[in-house]
Amino acid sequence: MEPVPATAIEFARRKRTFAWRGILPMLLLILLGCVLMVWGLPHNDPVIVLANMMIFFAGTWLVIAAKRYYRCPVCEKMVVPTKKDGTPSEISFGIDFKPEVCPYCKAVLR
Ligand SMILES: [Zn+2]
Repeated sequence: MEPVPATAIEFARRKRTFAWRGILPMLLLILLGCVLMVWGLPHNDPVIVLANMMIFFAGTWLVIAAKRYYRCPVCEKMVVPTKKDGTPSEISFGIDFKPEVCPYCKAVLR
């Protein structure tokens, strides 16, 4: 078994941080928003506005967390999906969940 590169170890650590501080709070916000929505809907309660905002900000939270934590340890750029020729894609937001190498500096991430 060949040794795991230090960049891969550091990226795995960043991925875990992203899961705890990005994905988990997002899921909780969505869940809580849905509970509020179900609770408020039969009476057309103003709490529905709050529920909508919570679900909207869950998405914003994920984007901010990805930009902050889901980055290559070498060049500090967010790990985005790649096109077929290996260059980074130009979509406005996206992350590659199982990257082999960084799309920008080609550092080994796995
Ligand atoms: Zn990189």
